[in-house]
Amino acid sequence: MARYTGAVCRFCRRENQKLFLKGDRCFTEKCSFERRAYPPGQHGQGRIKFSEYGLQLREKQKVRRMYGLLERQFRNLFAKADRLRGITGENFLNMLERRLDNVVYRAGFAGSRSEARQLVRHGHFLVNGKKVNIPSLELSKGDEVAVTTKSQNLTQIKASVEASKRKEIPQWIELSPADLKAKVRDLPARDDITAPIEERLIVELYSK
Ligand code: SF4
Repeated sequence: MARYTGAVCRFCRRENQKLFLKGDRCFTEKCSFERRAYPPGQHGQGRIKFSEYGLQLREKQKVRRMYGLLERQFRNLFAKADRLRGITGENFLNMLERRLDNVVYRAGFAGSRSEARQLVRHGHFLVNGKKVNIPSLELSKGDEVAVTTKSQNLTQIKASVEASKRKEIPQWIELSPADLKAKVRDLPARDDITAPIEERLIVELYSK
């Protein structure tokens, strides 16, 4: 699967919001957004007025970049959410949150979603006791994610777990830090997603 490998801090500056794509660095003074809180490029410091379409597009790009998905993956997931019963926008966010890489990140086993994705791909996690290396795997209520025995001493994971003690773990995840296990206690509700997201704009964009 192709993957964007360029600079990511410019995404935060483009979206005028911290997207927390670089782990611990995002909480330090090295954060590019803290130093230059205006869009990148020659006209970055000019006044930007968005059309309705522009607002929808920016919201979609922001969420897509936040979760680190390519356009096609993002659109396919939206189409899947659209086929479900209930509110499409909420279903979509729920599906994004339940991705294995996101759960690994939210549980504090990785400093960012991209790091979580890499750790999953390299086979450092078990889901319900079975080794899984698919970051997009959608977890359900009751599923348990655990660091494999062999990877429990991995410096990267240990450092993330240590750093995550200072962060808030969402209610819908039950964490056993000593065993390096996390359980999906419940499906994430809309209120559990605290990042400022206006999913309505994404629904409007894809409904055109
Ligand atoms: Fe965004 Fe983190 Fe880079 Fe800051 S350090 S600009 S929050 S990715």
